[in-house]
Amino acid sequence: MKITVEATACDLDKEMPARTYGITVDGESHEMDLCAPHAKPIEDLIEKARQAREQASAPAAKAVPPMQFNPPTPPPPRRSAARQTETPTPRKRAGGRRPKITSLAEIEAQKKTTQQDQD
Ligand SMILES: [Zn+2]
Repeated sequence: MKITVEATACDLDKEMPARTYGITVDGESHEMDLCAPHAKPIEDLIEKARQAREQASAPAAKAVPPMQFNPPTPPPPRRSAARQTETPTPRKRAGGRRPKITSLAEIEAQKKTTQQDQD
């Protein structure tokens, strides 16, 4: 008894089993026998194309809502400049330092002396 088995081997690495793929590009047909790993890119393309066609033919179920325009949020209201520069009142008890009180006359005198120093 003689049994002849025909098997398709991959064109690229002679792996079996292989499937025959026919691709027509611009009227030019290509036929290849490819094992599963080598046919993977083609299988992926077929699957993607099928999904794309299904999505294109499907009713607009996934209608994307129009882009919402969000106006930029205004910056928080600034605190008044006076409040920002306000320094806490130093406690008079702490340190025992007495504030130096300068009279107007003394200030004028200091100004004159500094002016003289500069000259
Ligand atoms: Zn192969």
